[in-house]
Amino acid sequence: MLEELRAALGPAGCLTGADIPEAARSDASRSGHALPLALLRPASVSEVSAALTICHRHGVPVVPQGGMTGLAGGANPDPASVALSLSRLSGVEEIDAEGMAMVVRAGTVLETAQGAAEEAGFLLPIDMGARGSCQIGGNIATNAGGLRVLRDGMTRDNLLGIEVVLADGTVLTRLTKEVKNNTGYDLRHLFAGSEGTLGVITRAVIRLRPLPTPRRTALAALPDFAAVLRLLHLARAQLPGLSAFEAMWDDYFAFSQYLLPYTLFTDPPPFAVILEAPDDPAFDTLLEQALEEGVILDALIAQSLNDARRFWTLREGEAIDAALPGLINLDISLATRRLDEFACRCRADLLARFHGAHVSFFGHIADSNLHVAVCLAGGGDAAEIHEVDAVVYGLVREFGGSISAEHGVGILKRDWLGHSRSAAELSAMQAIKATLDPKGILNPGKVFAASA
Ligand code: FAD
Ligand code: ZN
Repeated sequence: MLEELRAALGPAGCLTGADIPEAARSDASRSGHALPLALLRPASVSEVSAALTICHRHGVPVVPQGGMTGLAGGANPDPASVALSLSRLSGVEEIDAEGMAMVVRAGTVLETAQGAAEEAGFLLPIDMGARGSCQIGGNIATNAGGLRVLRDGMTRDNLLGIEVVLADGTVLTRLTKEVKNNTGYDLRHLFAGSEGTLGVITRAVIRLRPLPTPRRTALAALPDFAAVLRLLHLARAQLPGLSAFEAMWDDYFAFSQYLLPYTLFTDPPPFAVILEAPDDPAFDTLLEQALEEGVILDALIAQSLNDARRFWTLREGEAIDAALPGLINLDISLATRRLDEFACRCRADLLARFHGAHVSFFGHIADSNLHVAVCLAGGGDAAEIHEVDAVVYGLVREFGGSISAEHGVGILKRDWLGHSRSAAELSAMQAIKATLDPKGILNPGKVFAASA
């Protein structure tokens, strides 16, 4: 099989043994350890198709790899699989200014695609901290969320067309730029969020939007969660174009600020919220009203891009990731009004079980999305980390929420999928998988256990 692959893809397209870079072992969750049989690097759609045709004939598993920034272990190979990297299938093919759409190859790094859109005078409405490494194909395969979902939606909401290579090498091309197309089943949405289990995404059409008008950014201090909900209500009603509403619980704010060389609030408040909206007098009016009503205790308004960056740096928490290398970042969603009730229960349950653990909360509140950051004393072993999952996801189930709001299921959340999906839903998903990939060669063991 390796000889056939080498003949089809050329020596640069099929690496084996010591030529496979270490980075092919794991995504950013650092949960993968094995090297694959081979690392395939097709440079065209027809090479992707040829590679899959060969692997399908031999019944060898294929693990699609994008920028390896995923947080669920979805791109981790095992020693009996071949990894298929999209990195050489990159570049923006077309920007259609009238249609406000970009045709882009799957291996294009998000930041590169964003830059191309900006040069043409548009916004590419997908953005996240991993922008410098993650790829458009990976963003679609995980249906990534990010920092502006409130305004621009998830990746699938910006996906107009898609090209996918199926397990047997069949190429499905539907690079539609039109917003309207009601001709039967909408296959785009089947592949968005499929985490490499249904097909290999090779190209896509992404919707572009006008460049945003100048923004204002504020960091507000709030006394309690009821005030956070009230501010969200006011902001939604009074700030058209509201583009961010990010909340930090005091544990997260205090620790992140402690690690940074600057101070924003000397006394960390019970809650802090970053608000971002178009530059308009309504922004100041809202903050004044909120201050008068006691909804906010204090607010810092960014006077420069640098000020705004300081707020975001605190929220993005890279300093926390660096200070706590064993940090586990859980990503859940549930009814917005119950997020603090959940956080209080979750903190108490985790600290009762794991003495001396770091537990903190922050999230994209307007999307009902909460991140739970946990670091066990001494880092914790695999069994303990699994127990953290059991505690948090057990509570998510009780609250009727989702165990993965934006990071996907991969391998790390597979055991808990039944907490958020019914048996009937799971069997419908497995029926789709069996139809599109009857031999089960595409990313087996990801999302749900590999069929025997
Ligand atoms: P990979 O990690 O390489 O792969 C992810 C999954 O997609 C795997 O299952 C893989 O098999 C599959 N896959 C990849 N490419 C293809 C393809 N072409 N065809 C088929 N399947 C494919 N995520 C968010 O949602 N929101 C955030 O705000 C966010 N912030 C992040 C910040 C940081 C610092 C980091 C490290 C990660 C963050 N993530 C976030 C997670 C991650 O960046 C996203 O999941 C991203 O979309 C993954 O893209 P990737 O190209 O790195 O995919
Ligand atoms: Zn997030």
